[in-house]
Amino acid sequence: MTQGVLYVVATPIGNLEDISLRATRQLSEVTLILAEDTRHTQNLLHHLNVRTPLSALHDHNEAAQVQSILQKLQAGDDLALVSDAGTPLISDPGYRLVRAALEAGIRVSPVPGACAMVAALSVAGVASDRFAFEGFLPAKTVARRSRLAQLRLETRTLVFYEAPHRVLETLQDMWEVMGARELTLCRELTKTFETVRKGVLSDILLWVQQDTQQQRGEIVLVLAGAAPETADDQENNLRILYVLLDELPLRQAVDLAVRLTGCRKKWLYDAALARGKRDD
Ligand code: SAM
Repeated sequence: MTQGVLYVVATPIGNLEDISLRATRQLSEVTLILAEDTRHTQNLLHHLNVRTPLSALHDHNEAAQVQSILQKLQAGDDLALVSDAGTPLISDPGYRLVRAALEAGIRVSPVPGACAMVAALSVAGVASDRFAFEGFLPAKTVARRSRLAQLRLETRTLVFYEAPHRVLETLQDMWEVMGARELTLCRELTKTFETVRKGVLSDILLWVQQDTQQQRGEIVLVLAGAAPETADDQENNLRILYVLLDELPLRQAVDLAVRLTGCRKKWLYDAALARGKRDD
């Protein structure tokens, strides 16, 4: 018997006209659509006049559902996987299913389309021949700052997803940990209040602080990577700090590193924590 195909179908990130002709056809031809939130996807299907049944597949039931979905595919059913918006698996559920399908020898086929990360990069006006997609930063301040400290030497453009209620804190942390850099804030892309604002990090931070409207909706932050020469200097400074951390308690090591490198104490302290050194 011929096995079915698992189609991984991108859906719009706001503007429903961004659905592709192929996505619409595929969604109407499959036996079942696996959706992160069936009610949400039902609205899209209604708009497209597609009547295919839906079944929920989200982070909380994915592991439990995988076997029964594989059985359907093995029995010859073609299925589609969608998320609430954009491309499934990009900061969205589905990788367990896709992996299990590949391991079972089932064909997995992409139906590409909208993705907030790519849409943001396409209008950010930054070098994007190489970039690093970081998805969501940790929600807790210490973990977020630590992740940012680990990324300080990254010279590629960095792309982050962020929730509106955290954007201000995140920009504040980026400013304190990464220093002066260019940033493009991309908000509500493809929607009525679409905003793309590029500037130095401190200016964008001030603007978001002053205009609370900018703390709403869906946001992608595109941050310039470290300048290569800064990265070299910082790498040397970190090497000095790490040697000191191997020999001394945290605070003493940081104090000495401040004197040896001239770097800001907070910067060195965060770097020490990011390396896993505990405060004493
Ligand atoms: N899979 C999706 C994709 O392909 O972009 C991303 C899903 S992730 C759970 C949701 C995040 O994507 C939002 O918090 C926001 O950071 C970003 N996002 C989604 N739609 C957006 C839009 N229209 N404008 C800006 N950012 C968006």
